[in-house]
Amino acid sequence: MNFSESRLIGEKIRFLGHDITDNIENADMIVVNACSVREHAEERALGWISSISSDKAKIYAVGCLAAHVPQKLKNAGADYVSREIKWDEFPSAGGERAFSMKEEDLPIDYEISIVKGCDRFCSYCIVPYLRGEVQSLSPEEIFADIERCAAKGGAVFNLLGQNVNRYNYRGYKFSTLLEDVSHIDGVKKLTFLTSHPADLTEEIVLKVAQNDKILKSFHLPYQTGSDKLLNRMKRGYNSEGYKNKIRMIRNILPSMRLTTDIMVGLPGETEKDFRDTLDVAEEVRFDEAYMFAYSPRKGTLENLVPERIEKETAGKRLSELITVQNSISLEKKKERLNQKDTVFMKSLSRKGDFTLGILSDFSPVLVDAPYQRGKEAEIVLTELKGATLFGRLVQ
Ligand code: SAH
Ligand code: SF4
Repeated sequence: MNFSESRLIGEKIRFLGHDITDNIENADMIVVNACSVREHAEERALGWISSISSDKAKIYAVGCLAAHVPQKLKNAGADYVSREIKWDEFPSAGGERAFSMKEEDLPIDYEISIVKGCDRFCSYCIVPYLRGEVQSLSPEEIFADIERCAAKGGAVFNLLGQNVNRYNYRGYKFSTLLEDVSHIDGVKKLTFLTSHPADLTEEIVLKVAQNDKILKSFHLPYQTGSDKLLNRMKRGYNSEGYKNKIRMIRNILPSMRLTTDIMVGLPGETEKDFRDTLDVAEEVRFDEAYMFAYSPRKGTLENLVPERIEKETAGKRLSELITVQNSISLEKKKERLNQKDTVFMKSLSRKGDFTLGILSDFSPVLVDAPYQRGKEAEIVLTELKGATLFGRLVQ
């Protein structure tokens, strides 16, 4: 999510006419979009800002870390600190250069923010305290954002929010938004992030399954398989409820790609609780998972439950979970070999020897075929090297 938001910031900066550089030495400004969901991320961001030794570049620190520890960021060397970039005050380079770029150099995929903030207050999570009240952006604002990106060659759109299922603008709901966005000129592929299991409805799943432009994928974090912990975390479902949502999705579309977030080492997590977490991973067989060791954040669950888990135990559980999940992810990819799918061509691969594309369920693939921006083609999946799927065109 933070990665997607950072890309979104990058796109907006590009629209203001600036060039984006990978080389910090060339930068006139450095935007650090820092997350404070886990302590480790916070320390890394502060350490990194202190280590930047550029007299030339101004440092903008944004994101929830800026709301959490503004003074620490200033002390570390940030020139501007703000939860969100104030775009009307952000220096513009005129916009002309960005708009005169060649179409093939402009990005084809865009992140579009549709809901800001979060009001679920899961008891371990700092986000609702830092990101402010939930605000669904108006459909007009969202359409205008997408049309602007589509006019610059955008074709793949990822709608973002901490819990997009709760999108609601004066009664205008998420499934209607998905349908309407899919009809905007230039929109070829559509996806979204993140779905909260408690708010996921059959209506949304049906919309995803039935609309050809929507990629067949859900990111549905379950966090833990322990009912005791889910209750303490105030997630609003138990493990059976979660698995029912998975059944509902798979009844509608068995091949739906499913990804998730999982946490281990939560306060009070027993060996049995951890086994329950592994059981869910093994039963559901997610395509991919983001896995974390619990990191106590001030003002959250940390203060509610003092039974901390030893760092070493949490670390061991995390590596066991990662081993189990990684092997499931690989097995699921292997099962796809020799199967056909449609690819949407996004760019040349980094080395320039393959075409990088997305499959109908948003999985990345490298195709042995000439790159044609935005072209769709039928392919067969031929090989799995490491965790990367390869394919070739069906003649
Ligand atoms: N809104 C999304 C998640 C946003 S935060 C949702 O509810 O699904 C992304 C992930 O970070 C969470 O899903 C959770 O797995 C993890 N996370 C949140 N707080 C954390 C904490 N205190 N320690 C470790 N991981 C945490
Ligand atoms: Fe945090 Fe829960 Fe909101 Fe996700 S839904 S951002 S985990 S409070």
